[in-house]
Amino acid sequence: MSRSLVTVDALVVGAGPAGLAAATALKLGGTGTVLVVDREEEAGGIPRLCEHTGFGLRDLRRVLSGPEYARRWVERAVACGVEIRTRTMVTGWAAPGRAEMTGPSGVLEIDARTIVLATGARERPRAARLVPGTRPSGIFTTGQLQQWVHREHLPVGRRAVVVGAEHVSYSAVMTLRHAGVHPVALVTDLPRPQSYRLFDLLVRVGLRVPVWTRTSVAGVYGRDRVDEVLVRGPDGDERSVAVDTVVFTGDFIPDNELARLAGLSIDPGTRGPACAAGGATTAPGIFAAGNLVHPAETADVAARRALSVGRAAATWLRQGGDRTMPGATERVRVADPLHWVVPNMVDPARAGDESVLIRSRVFLDHPHVVVTQGHRLLASYRLRHMIPNRSHHIPSDWWGRLRPGQDVLISVSPRPGG
Ligand SMILES: Cc1cc2nc3c(=O)[nH]c(=O)nc-3n(C[C@H](O)[C@H](O)[C@H](O)COP(=O)(O)OP(=O)(O)OC[C@H]3O[C@@H](n4cnc5c(N)ncnc54)[C@H](O)[C@@H]3O)c2cc1C
Repeated sequence: MSRSLVTVDALVVGAGPAGLAAATALKLGGTGTVLVVDREEEAGGIPRLCEHTGFGLRDLRRVLSGPEYARRWVERAVACGVEIRTRTMVTGWAAPGRAEMTGPSGVLEIDARTIVLATGARERPRAARLVPGTRPSGIFTTGQLQQWVHREHLPVGRRAVVVGAEHVSYSAVMTLRHAGVHPVALVTDLPRPQSYRLFDLLVRVGLRVPVWTRTSVAGVYGRDRVDEVLVRGPDGDERSVAVDTVVFTGDFIPDNELARLAGLSIDPGTRGPACAAGGATTAPGIFAAGNLVHPAETADVAARRALSVGRAAATWLRQGGDRTMPGATERVRVADPLHWVVPNMVDPARAGDESVLIRSRVFLDHPHVVVTQGHRLLASYRLRHMIPNRSHHIPSDWWGRLRPGQDVLISVSPRPGG
């Protein structure tokens, strides 16, 4: 079968906030042709389906609904001269720098001098969480629920359990309420909810939806439709909750298939492509941005950090775009109970101008964060607390003191907070 071949200076895969921001920065950085492709009907990524407000504070300096926020980023990118093609899915690589894709006009290949992967992250569905039971209908992730409610306008159910108590879990509660479903409880195996105190108060006190902590879902049952969820409480006792809907929220995993197919090294913590400051991956000329590399931040954080990825990619192109140059090699690792760090590679050619994001698997009060390279202490910081499923920022000023040839380790001396 004959394939059309298109040549561009920069190809961005994914038209979510991160892809659109990276494309905008590439164009503003003097890059010639910048093409963004997305498999969906419309550009804008996840926010297109989030009807609620809460988007844009840190990047657009206003608080917008998801669809309005998505529209603004699309308009910005297009105004800068970025071309966007929707209903176009990248399926693999014909050669380094040449993407294979299918779109409305068939199969095509795009040859790009630089590529930014911004394919986002998705919530782990029930099957991946290994929850036993039967396979009835009425089981969603928050993303699927939003699609169901806001896009398809389909009825959901009457009573639901929300699995998780992180930011996105509260979004699920709002969507359920919008759809006329009673959220019976949020269930988390952690000792406390992980979102903002305000969200927690609004839901627990305002909407009277309890959060069952130290509690896990031990089974989901029903014949055609869910009729029972089995929950296991702090003392190990199991009890049955009568619901017809279960929403598995959070627990994000990067959409890393294209990164793997490109042979990029994958970070063991984030499960996204390992990347240095500015999104440089282990393959020169391929950059990564957004929730693909930090699963998952809010949209404004994803977009802001992607701007610096776009700038770094534009600089790389201006400097000649040499793919034979070695990519980043040394790692930034974390020690337990830390979960992940971004950036997680050291690019000797580039110091970080963004903060370093770190996450913990457990609640920590006043942790002492220590950055070392071999026996050298590079920096130490005292944080107020660390909360699982939320990133904490530490400065990147130690980046300039790194020596080539050795990995960096970030650890904490915690006082466990429960
Ligand atoms: C339910 C929910 C509620 C949220 N609420 C808020 C909120 O109130 N405020 C806030 O700031 N943030 C919120 N977020 C987070 C926000 O949506 C994300 O931070 C943001 O969308 C991340 O942007 P991104 O560009 O990295 O990824 P995405 O928005 O996920 O975009 C990735 C894009 O890549 C495309 N893609 C993937 N693979 C391919 C491929 N092979 N070929 C072509 N295209 C591809 C996808 O179609 C998608 O459009 C919420 C998230 C969820 C799930």
